[in-house]
This record gives sequence, structure tokens and C-alpha cells, in this order.
Amino acid sequence: MTNTNAAQAPVTVVGLGLMGQALASAFTKNGHPTTVWNRTAAKAEPVVAQGATLAGSVEDAIAASPLVVVCVSDYTAVRGLLDPLAGALKGKVLVNLTTGTSTQARETAAWAAQHEVVYLDGAIMAIPPDIATDAAVLLYSGPKEAFEAHEATLGSLGAAGTTYLDSDHGLSALYDMSLLGIMWGILNGFLQGAALLGTAKVKATTFAPLANTMINVVTEYVTAYAPQIDEGKYPADDATMTVHQEALEHLAEESETLGINSELPRFFKALTDRAVADGHAGSSYAALIEQFRKPNA
Ligand code: NAP
Repeated sequence: MTNTNAAQAPVTVVGLGLMGQALASAFTKNGHPTTVWNRTAAKAEPVVAQGATLAGSVEDAIAASPLVVVCVSDYTAVRGLLDPLAGALKGKVLVNLTTGTSTQARETAAWAAQHEVVYLDGAIMAIPPDIATDAAVLLYSGPKEAFEAHEATLGSLGAAGTTYLDSDHGLSALYDMSLLGIMWGILNGFLQGAALLGTAKVKATTFAPLANTMINVVTEYVTAYAPQIDEGKYPADDATMTVHQEALEHLAEESETLGINSELPRFFKALTDRAVADGHAGSSYAALIEQFRKPNA
């Protein structure tokens, strides 16, 4: 596969929801002949006004370019659209930027391989206004040579954050879920804290700067705990599991006394209880990985 001159490389975008429109707009503005298709044709109007070409059918859209990017609601929609068009996709590079699970990504990769479609699965760690800026992170997995052949074109969506992960098609989806999990973990912690401080009439805007300082401190824990997790050894260089367990009990009790929801600290506390029962009283907080690796208790 040869590297394609980015500015001239044609690209097709299937799906023009909020994200698909941002993708098509970025390709068009970067000089790519861009063909688009959407179930509801009216949504193509803004990108057509920018220079994209609206195809009359998905098949025509696929025929227009060697690189086909699909971004619709879910994998059921992807497969519903593309399964009947496997023949039209043969030999093309299909990049699926629809959010889904690693299982769906690997199943779609198996379908693509069966039909000689070159398949890259991707995950967009950004919102539509971030597309084509340095804030956009896009993760890709699948055959590296296919990624490299189209890296310059895909870079239109945010060159700085365009990241190839691995040949395992499921990895972009797995990273997506893992990173979103971090986002929700942090946000829920912030919201629980804001509710707690709200009982003393502290505004969330007053809390936010210190909350952000704490989030930065946690990045140091992530850096310190990652090698412990990889090695399976959890020296408590900072604080033992027992210290965390007691502090979590304080947070849960405080929440209950003040009449706010304590499910989050109660869950965290239960995890530390289980870790202590498993012999990790003197281990670092990283030993909780062993609880997360198990199915639900
Ligand atoms: P959206 O605005 O709701 O658009 C959904 C798109 O899917 C529309 O183009 C819709 O077509 C199409 N679609 C749904 N079912 C279909 C079907 N059965 N057949 C054909 N087309 C179908 O969603 P979005 O924000 O663009 O998100 C698209 C994907 O990007 C999702 O997987 C989402 O998780 C992911 N993503 C979004 C964001 C974000 O911030 N928006 C961020 C990261 C990832 P119609 O226009 O005809 O309804």
C-alpha cells in the first residue's frame, strides 16, 4: 500500500450526524474531494455548501473513494448499512469511527476480512467542535499498513491526536471504554464532592479550582501505580489500604449524616473491605486491581 498524497486523496463519509458532519467538514476544508451520504439527506446541506458531494446512495458513496469513513449511531446501523454492500467495499479501506464494544469491532473485522475489505476500527475521544483541532484524539486499530497509507488524510481530523494502537481491531474500542470510565469516575467524584460541600452552601464554582488541583494530584498516583499493577506487587509507599478504607468510611458516614447520596463511597469502601479480606491491608491502593479483575461479587 503506498502513501497517498493527502491533499488529493478522496474520502467518503457515511453518516452525517453531529460527529459525521464534523468529520466531513474537516476533510473538505483540508482539500480532500469528499463524498458524503446520510439516511436523512437534508443533513448533508452544510457540508455540501462547504464543497462536499452528496451521493445518491450508500453504494455510490462507497464507489467514489478508496477510503470510506463510517460514523453512525451504533454497530447495528453500521452492519445494516454495509453488510449488503460488502462487494462494493472489496479492496477499499473502511474506517469505522462509530462507538461500540471491542467484541463488535472484532466481529466487524472478521466480516470485513471474509469479504476482502481492509478494516480499521477507530474511537473518537473528542466532541464535534474539537475535530480538526489539537484537542481531538482519535485512536485506530487494525492493519498498520492501511493506517499508514491513509494517516495523512485521517490527520485532517486532528493530526496531533491521530494515534495508531495495534493490529487487534478491538483495542480502539477497549481504550475508548477505559478512557470514558476514567472520565465518569472523576466526574462522579466531583459531583459527590459538590453535593457534600453544597450542604455547607459552598458553590460548585468555588470547589472547582481545588477539585482540579486534586485531579492533577491523582495523575501522580496513576503514574506510580501503573508499574505496581504490571508487576503484581503493591508496596504502600504512600498510604496503606487500611488508611484508605478508614478514610472512605469517613466519607460515607459524612455523606449519610448530611443526608446526601453515599452509594459511591460505600461502593469504594466495599472494594477496600474485600481487598483487606484478601490480605491486602498493608498494600497500596493499587491492589484494588485484583477486585476490578474479578466479575461482580
Ligand atoms: P447523531 O448526531 O445522533 O447521528 C447519528 C447518525 O447515525 C445520523 O447520521 C443517523 O442518520 C445515523 N443513523 C442512525 N441509525 C441509522 C441507521 N439505521 N441507518 C443509517 N443511518 C443511521 O450521533 P453523533 O453524535 O454523530 O455520533 C455518531 C457516532 O459517533 C456514535 O457512535 C457516537 O457514540 C460517536 N461519537 C460521538 C461523539 C459526540 O460528541 N457527538 C463523540 C465521540 C464519539 P439520520 O441523520 O438519518 O438519523
